Amino acid sequence: MPQLISSKDMDFLLNTVFDAEELCQLPAYQEHDRTTFDSVLTTAERIATDYFLPHNAKADANEPQFDGERVSTIPEVKTAWQHFADSGLLSARHSYEDGGMQLPALVHSACMSYFTAANPSTAGYPFLTMAAANLINAFGNDEQKSRYLPAMFDGRSAGTMALTEPDVGSSLGDLTTKAIPHEDGSYRIKGQKMYISGGDQDITSNIIHLVIARIQGAPQGVKGISLFLVPKFITNEAGEPIQRNDVQLAGLLHKMGYRGTTSTVLSFGEKDDCHGYLIGETGRGLSYMFKMMNEARIGVGLGAAVIGYRGYMESLDYARNRPQGRRPDEKDPQSKQINIIEHADVRRMLLAQKSYVEGSLALCMLAARLVDEHEAGGDEDAGRLLDLLTPVVKSFPSFYGPRANDLAIQVLGGAGYTREYPVEQCYRDNRLNPIHEGTHGIQSLDLLGRKLWQENGAGQKLLLKRIQKTMHAAGKHSELIELVGVYQKHINTLMQTTLALGSALQSGKLKEGLANSALYLDMMGKCIIAWLWLDMAEKAISAFASSEAKEDTDFMAGKIQAARYFILWELPEVEHQAHLLTSFDRTCLDMQDNWF
Ligand SMILES: Cc1cc2nc3c(=O)[nH]c(=O)nc-3n(C[C@H](O)[C@H](O)[C@H](O)COP(=O)(O)OP(=O)(O)OC[C@H]3O[C@@H](n4cnc5c(N)ncnc54)[C@H](O)[C@@H]3O)c2cc1C
Repeated sequence: MPQLISSKDMDFLLNTVFDAEELCQLPAYQEHDRTTFDSVLTTAERIATDYFLPHNAKADANEPQFDGERVSTIPEVKTAWQHFADSGLLSARHSYEDGGMQLPALVHSACMSYFTAANPSTAGYPFLTMAAANLINAFGNDEQKSRYLPAMFDGRSAGTMALTEPDVGSSLGDLTTKAIPHEDGSYRIKGQKMYISGGDQDITSNIIHLVIARIQGAPQGVKGISLFLVPKFITNEAGEPIQRNDVQLAGLLHKMGYRGTTSTVLSFGEKDDCHGYLIGETGRGLSYMFKMMNEARIGVGLGAAVIGYRGYMESLDYARNRPQGRRPDEKDPQSKQINIIEHADVRRMLLAQKSYVEGSLALCMLAARLVDEHEAGGDEDAGRLLDLLTPVVKSFPSFYGPRANDLAIQVLGGAGYTREYPVEQCYRDNRLNPIHEGTHGIQSLDLLGRKLWQENGAGQKLLLKRIQKTMHAAGKHSELIELVGVYQKHINTLMQTTLALGSALQSGKLKEGLANSALYLDMMGKCIIAWLWLDMAEKAISAFASSEAKEDTDFMAGKIQAARYFILWELPEVEHQAHLLTSFDRTCLDMQDNWF
């Protein structure tokens, strides 16, 4: 069986590209060293392989059921959850005082990669729980923290995030769920939420929903939105469930992928008795939720990258073992067939996958490192850069991860289209990622309409500084000089395009300026991934050029070749995109409803 993620690549990313050990200089992480990082990563990979991977296809084929009273999932999901909880990973990012491990986000993300690569659906439950716990920890009061967090850390409670409503998806400012103040200081929640992942299940004894709602009388729009903690079971002070809250499962949704995670429609307050507890201040719900969503967006990017990665590893393994056809210049029909990896076109599909998924994983690890630099290191610039990059971190892997899975299916030919091989499930699972946590279109508006211009474009300047540093380092290696030259041309194009769009937006041409935002998101994503490929190629040369081990020199050659592929084959597309963007092409904008 192929590895879920190449261990050599993971080691390279963690220790060479992003220097995890350097983080141990930060006070929060000073108890750690390379050994503790290696050991937690080994544990994560083992649990993922032993308890998540084996039921990935089974959970896909046996969706959770709802009999009108109770939800049931296959038993392996609960076993996997328990092993995850017992490993301490649910609270690993939290402080020692709170029972956590103070594990850097970088290392935690590396751990999470294995779970999602093994089984995205089952990994969804801990992902959501950790994000919800982070939010309570950041904005809840002491009573809320002591009542709810211990059970979320040891696996008795799971968490959800409940934003979407049947008629409210991308436009959250229009939400209709109400919160009515109650004399005991709490609120009564009333409304319906839809698509809520993990909204009901039979894995944990309680579920903590984080619900956004509008307090009666609050203004319309985002300023009127507050955040509420709504438990499935109301608890005593010790956090033990004592009484069913008025949150009902209205039904389960049936999906293309991620079929092992329950997707629920939830009714809050059908009996007018749904208890909700305000988190933080009124009217700040969406900004609190954005904290969770930003982390969730990095998580989505990471998930998309590693589902793509798993498909790549499967198709690579298949291509190495599938004999079919002969070289174009082989005339002898009796000659032995070659494995399909020998065909240039199959190598093209493998190289494209490698460039998308290893590039995407590097991007997500960069984001995780920036979280550490910002949160544990107090580096405000890291926070600014992270803010700028978040829409790209969410979107590039979500768009190119499924493309990688599509290519993996193609490499397997007919076998790829059958359920005998995991690549079709990878594709179906991964197809969710450009949709949830803010669609691709919404991310592009966030980037072009907001993130680029925050603090006078401070994030852009920081990004360019880092890019220049990489170009300088890469330019010293003869193998990379040509690529640096090509990259320089395209990064200049990105800068000119950004300037043109910036002045259009500043002069009030919002409709025209934002009309082709998805092109800009893709363009920026390509430039960032190409930068990371230069960086990886440069660091691989520095680390392995003088190594005598063939494994090292092959690894280095693979990184250089993938950088070459991405920069010469994929990146030049930005020129055409720049042309459409800077000419404010109106083809999509001017198309009329009744012309379709
Ligand atoms: C499997 C699954 C799990 C999910 N899990 C959760 C969860 O746990 N919690 C939760 O709260 N939600 C969850 N969601 C909901 C998800 O976040 C929404 O589906 C998503 O935000 C899009 O909302 P929508 O489906 O209503 O689409 P819409 O908002 O109707 O969008 C439809 C299309 O229109 C485009 N569009 C919308 N508005 C604009 C605009 N202003 N400008 C340009 N284009 C626009 C979108 O990009 C999209 O292509 C989940 C969804 C799925 C499918």
